[in-house]
Amino acid sequence: MAYNNFETQAVRIAESASNQREHSAPIYLSSSFVFDSAEEARQMFSEEIPGNIYSRYANPNTSDLIAKVCAAEGTESGVTTASGMAAMFGSMAALLSQGDHVLASRSLFGSTHQLLTRIFPKWGINHTYGDISDILNWEKLITPKTKMVFIETPSNPGLEIIDLEYIANFANTHNLILVVDNCFATPYLQQPAKWGAHIVTHSATKFIDGQGRVLGGLILGEKKYIEEVQFFMRHTGPSLSPFNAWVLAKSMETLAVRMDRHCENALKIAQYFQDSKELEFVKYPFLPTHPQYDLAKKQMKHGGGIITLTLKGGLPRAQRFIDQLQMITVTANLGDSRSIITHPASTTHSKLSEEERERVGILNGLVRLSVGLEHVDDIILDIERALEKSR
Ligand SMILES: *Cc1c(COP(=O)(O)O)cnc(C)c1O
Repeated sequence: MAYNNFETQAVRIAESASNQREHSAPIYLSSSFVFDSAEEARQMFSEEIPGNIYSRYANPNTSDLIAKVCAAEGTESGVTTASGMAAMFGSMAALLSQGDHVLASRSLFGSTHQLLTRIFPKWGINHTYGDISDILNWEKLITPKTKMVFIETPSNPGLEIIDLEYIANFANTHNLILVVDNCFATPYLQQPAKWGAHIVTHSATKFIDGQGRVLGGLILGEKKYIEEVQFFMRHTGPSLSPFNAWVLAKSMETLAVRMDRHCENALKIAQYFQDSKELEFVKYPFLPTHPQYDLAKKQMKHGGGIITLTLKGGLPRAQRFIDQLQMITVTANLGDSRSIITHPASTTHSKLSEEERERVGILNGLVRLSVGLEHVDDIILDIERALEKSR
């Protein structure tokens, strides 16, 4: 039976049925799988017939997760990876060759920035950053070697939004592969493939798990690209463990209800603090003061679970504020049922120079709030108290 709605697909699609009639998918802790005959082994290895061979290639639990996420993203096929960074690395390493050039948005996750600036150049793969404010002029940044456009929207932590319809047309016009890191939005809030992205990547560690338990990553997209990625992943080996795949497939079943609450809480908090005298600025995609509010409304279902607050008083104030929080946790993760605060300039984005940070809006007074599933009044109270005490 085919299901039309996101919530039903996420709950009901399952690939991993065994013959034991489990109602809930079991965990397949098996590194390899048995063949009925030498001939069947030959056929599976040559991909004449489908089937599980070895858990570095595929496992019923990873297949389950891929089926659920592909239905959610509207993509043909996918690969699971051991972490989000394995997905970012794999999507680029599998599809690029020596001499190729990547055009990337400047606002990227810290480790993705390290990949482009310090790791890929070792193999002769270079990049140019484009500013989102100047996106209509990105054509000038294309070189004869450009093969890929890599973007993040909303970006971490600047919450900058890129017009997916525009950038997909741009990529297709110039025959470039468009890769979108969709981690912040999750497939529930935004489906880049529906706007024309060729590849969608995820850190499943964040909202897809949603409870801070496991690492995982996903690379999804058109079959012709994913086959190349599969080949690369099979033979380089950053496979997702069956246990983590099982956790993540279970989490997909509750993604929609969790995201609805993350977003509802986040919007209330953003609205509550938007006029606070203690803050320079509150940024949230679905707050009308966000510079790309209309665009966010066009391509996202809700505004997401992340808010940035820029405190008056710069770094010392931001640090005092963080130290005064009583409930909200200070940790580098995001997308958890527990609300989390992070100071990007001194942690996740500390490898960037101050100038680089300013160009992507990461000011010293900025804190990133990953809004959790606690009662919104308790989150607001904790922030309000800490703002007062850190004056
Ligand atoms: C966390 C994150 C990653 C990296 O994912 P890991 O699972 O930590 O490896 C990549 N992109 C974005 C936007 C992230 O927030």
